Amino acid sequence: MSTPSIIRTNTADLYDAHVLKNYGRPALTLVRGRGPTVWDDQGNSYLDFTSGIAVSALGHCHPYWVAAVQLQAGELIHTSNLFRHPNQGELARRIVGYAGPGRVFFCNSGAEADEALIKLARLHGMRKAGGEEGKCYKIICAKQGFHGRMFGGMSATPQEKIQHGFRPLVPGFSFGELNDLQSFADLIDGQTAAIFVETIQGESGVRPCTTEFLLGLRRLCDQNNLLLLLDEVQCGIGRTGKFYAFEHAGVRADAIAMAKGLGGGFPIGAIWVGEGAADLFQPGMHGTTFGGTPLACAAALAVLDVIEREQLLAHVTQASGPWLAALTALVKEYPAQVAAVRGRGFLTGVQLTGDIAPYVTALRERGLLVTPSGGNVIRLLPPLNTTAADLAKSVEIIRAVLAAKA
Ligand SMILES: *Cc1c(COP(=O)(O)O)cnc(C)c1O
Repeated sequence: MSTPSIIRTNTADLYDAHVLKNYGRPALTLVRGRGPTVWDDQGNSYLDFTSGIAVSALGHCHPYWVAAVQLQAGELIHTSNLFRHPNQGELARRIVGYAGPGRVFFCNSGAEADEALIKLARLHGMRKAGGEEGKCYKIICAKQGFHGRMFGGMSATPQEKIQHGFRPLVPGFSFGELNDLQSFADLIDGQTAAIFVETIQGESGVRPCTTEFLLGLRRLCDQNNLLLLLDEVQCGIGRTGKFYAFEHAGVRADAIAMAKGLGGGFPIGAIWVGEGAADLFQPGMHGTTFGGTPLACAAALAVLDVIEREQLLAHVTQASGPWLAALTALVKEYPAQVAAVRGRGFLTGVQLTGDIAPYVTALRERGLLVTPSGGNVIRLLPPLNTTAADLAKSVEIIRAVLAAKA
């Protein structure tokens, strides 16, 4: 048997001929990554402040993560949820340690985690309606939110660019204004089962829920017997300097969706469900073939180990202060181009006054990869272990691009 090798064929030809055209992506082929740096097939290096959309929490190929995945890959990779495995139990224990008393279900992506929360809301509604199905099923979400591309989550995502072409959608979703508690209160009726929001809206321009708003939603849920469901798929797993972004507000969720950073690049998603709702899912009511494999859980356990051993929550909190200050200074330096800087920790948005596309390209040409977000916002998502020096370097690259375009 010959040994496998890394594929080096012409990527452009392969994509043109064989890959579905659902992404509008630049002609950039990445072949290697180490820490916050990636290299393209021409040998150029880039500071990767996309982290693959907040996924590569430890940067690329962290040695501890690689060792954990290699070790598990040679031991046992997949059994499906037909059986138990120590890694899944241990990862659930660790997540409960962060989230509080409750239980965990594992899946493979953010969208799947959000679907599970939507199903949880339906079960809560059925219980609320005395066991009658279809009587209490409505979910209130936020305008400009994002909850994935499957039918449930897409129906919870009131954006034309996401929904167009796919109607009819799942019924029962309505939408309040972010940070306007009264607009949510006005939507509650006897058929409402849950409120479901991102703690920080990631896809639509990095817009955080205020503390007051989150505490108000908690109150509304308590008063009306609704579940408070928080989508922490992007803002969770240390990205804001707390393990979950809602911890900044001191609010309690009934259930949480998480995914992106959890596996550090290995696909894994999860929901945590607090004690009050954890018994809603009974055997046979939900499931997935791949969710929580021994390998995926080994990857996630390695991420949690590194976050704890390298004290990355404290690092994000400390290092993000000067970085955000330096970015914010750009608003004054280049007011014609930079409208605002928003975010928390290493989930940051630089809002420009006009179209961001030429800026994203110019940043790439100067060696900085960033993720476009909605509302003319350039999203910066550095790995959680990014050094102060690399954060400063990102500001210099952005400043150089602004100066060149001024
Ligand atoms: C990315 C994201 C999702 C969807 O996750 P996928 O892994 O892409 O399916 C859902 N909610 C939020 C807040 C996200 O940022």
